[in-house]
Amino acid sequence: MTTITTAAALLADIAVEADRTDAVQAFVKQETILVEIVTTDGLRGTGYSYTIGTGGSSVLALLNDHLLPLLVGEDARNVEALWQRLFSATRATTTGAITSLALAAVDTALWDLRCRRAGEPLWRLAGGYRRQVPVYDTEGGWLHLTTDDLVKSALAAQKAGWAGVKIKVGKPNPAEDAERLRAVREAVGASLHIMTDANQSQSASSALRLARALEPYDPYWLEEPLPADDLSGHARLATATCIPIAVGESMYSLTQFRTYLESGAASVVQVDAARVGGITPWLKVAHLAESHNVQVCPHFLMELHVSLAAAVPNGAFVEYIPQLRAVTRTELAVHHGMAVAPDTPGIGIDWDMDAIDNRRVA
Ligand code: MG
Repeated sequence: MTTITTAAALLADIAVEADRTDAVQAFVKQETILVEIVTTDGLRGTGYSYTIGTGGSSVLALLNDHLLPLLVGEDARNVEALWQRLFSATRATTTGAITSLALAAVDTALWDLRCRRAGEPLWRLAGGYRRQVPVYDTEGGWLHLTTDDLVKSALAAQKAGWAGVKIKVGKPNPAEDAERLRAVREAVGASLHIMTDANQSQSASSALRLARALEPYDPYWLEEPLPADDLSGHARLATATCIPIAVGESMYSLTQFRTYLESGAASVVQVDAARVGGITPWLKVAHLAESHNVQVCPHFLMELHVSLAAAVPNGAFVEYIPQLRAVTRTELAVHHGMAVAPDTPGIGIDWDMDAIDNRRVA
């Protein structure tokens, strides 16, 4: 039997593995919301979502007070129906980050169950396109790092055969960003991809100046130049610069992605399974992007996203930011610049529940 008998959630604070800063914020701690769902056949699925420092207790409260009780007695195999039921139950407060993060914790647990029941890894059950996906490094490109640090990390990534590196931009003067990018480009030559990320820090005018300043150094994309709800601003910028515009980590619904893609405001889509509400909507966004001939390069969560990027034909890169090593028994395998999707049944994350318990705050 596949009836859900219990659905429980907890909140654990995981310390950041490194100092991480961008133009608007720091990654303070990973508030990790875990959901565990058990069915009558004894199977157990574990899902999760996260914040980078605020809102985790709100997500937990929404789950405990309103969403998890709706799951008990339902058939765990009906993942789409359950997603829609929970979404409908919160209709007056959606679409929004808190609801999407809560839905994601449930949905990833249901997918974990689905994969375990089928005896298949997520990368195959979600599509099964390929086992390995190119990886790029973000950990060596934070805004507080010196130009020497950036160059050193980029050379190390290149030597290891990685596809690219990301450099945070958004210094007070775009000339400083351009100088940092120039130093890295000169060190690595033409072949390494250099992604840039402004984290929504720019205005309409400063974004254009920044893009123009970066263009000579051939960035692979410019990520989140403007606030994420400024659709027409992104569309205008996309026509004004030759740098592809990447967005998605701050979007919380399928329809937001549709409007961006229809408007030509996104050349790369960075849908985040936690922030969009789970694996179920993540796959819809990926397929929607495919219909626009747009690549999917998921934001963060490499431990989960490796399997999703591997599932779909337009999954182009996995972003390297290790953040679960203290609470899992395995870590992302990277061989010759390729992230390898786990081949074990489930979503591919082997949680160390003792380590989680030690970090539990609610
Ligand atoms: Mg970003």
